[in-house]
Amino acid sequence: MWTSSLSGRSVVVTGGSKGIGRGIAKVFGGHGARVMIVARRLKDAEATAQELSAAGATTSAFAADVTQPSDMEAMAKAACDRHGGLDVLCANAGIFPQARLEEMSPEAWDEVLDTNLKGTFLAVKACLPYLKNSSQGRIVITSSITGPVTGYPGWAHYGATKAGQLGFMRTACIELARHRITVNAVMPGNIVTEGLQGLGEEYLKRMAASIPLKRLGSVEDIGNAVAFFASKEAAYITGQTIIVDGGQTLPESLEALASA
Ligand code: NAP
Repeated sequence: MWTSSLSGRSVVVTGGSKGIGRGIAKVFGGHGARVMIVARRLKDAEATAQELSAAGATTSAFAADVTQPSDMEAMAKAACDRHGGLDVLCANAGIFPQARLEEMSPEAWDEVLDTNLKGTFLAVKACLPYLKNSSQGRIVITSSITGPVTGYPGWAHYGATKAGQLGFMRTACIELARHRITVNAVMPGNIVTEGLQGLGEEYLKRMAASIPLKRLGSVEDIGNAVAFFASKEAAYITGQTIIVDGGQTLPESLEALASA
């Protein structure tokens, strides 16, 4: 019988109550990992944990804000206490309010940078003491195509954080290699989440038409890529990225897409 190398691993997913984080938690749960789902709203995290547990996964919930160092320290300790250690941090929590440059306030800029970029650093820093004790320490960051590869009006601050996460990763992976901890990042394209569904059927149809594989991604598509980076099989991969976007970033022009 095949057993996943993630079976029994202790995993923390920040932003695990909804969207992509929930998909990541679901995939890890399916591999037999023990998953702690983290979000600011405990009720949402508990609801997701219960839903995944009912489907056979081992999950629990924890309330924490990634912008708060003490919350991140409590999160890492709780995962270790609950699971007897910590093997995988999925630094996934993120926000993406839209504001064009002329309307963007310094406060809005700070909020996005605090959550997406500083939050990634704080989660990693808090989990390090525990990850160092793991035989298979893994950090997987949820970046995006927006910022590192593409641009989108209204998301200058967001794009800066998603590109910044990759800069952070490239130094972190060198520093942490001596502890056998790998640091990698997934770069999702347009993924169907509760938030995206709110944009309406017409918008989703237009988006799907602009993607070579002619569909938007699922949260499980991202979860599977994260699970690969976290697996034993990916032990020799660090500081790398994988774009999961159905080919969205590839056509060099609308003409290239139309003539496919
Ligand atoms: P989402 O559905 O809005 O979920 C965001 C999650 O993050 C929620 O669980 C939320 O719970 C949590 N969160 C937000 N701020 C937090 C904070 N300060 N501390 C702790 N948790 C916090 O978002 P999503 O679309 O799944 O996006 C997740 C990640 O994927 C983000 O990093 C985003 O940049 C990236 N991404 C998304 C897409 C996409 O198409 N959806 C594409 C590329 C990249 P609480 O509000 O309760 O805290």
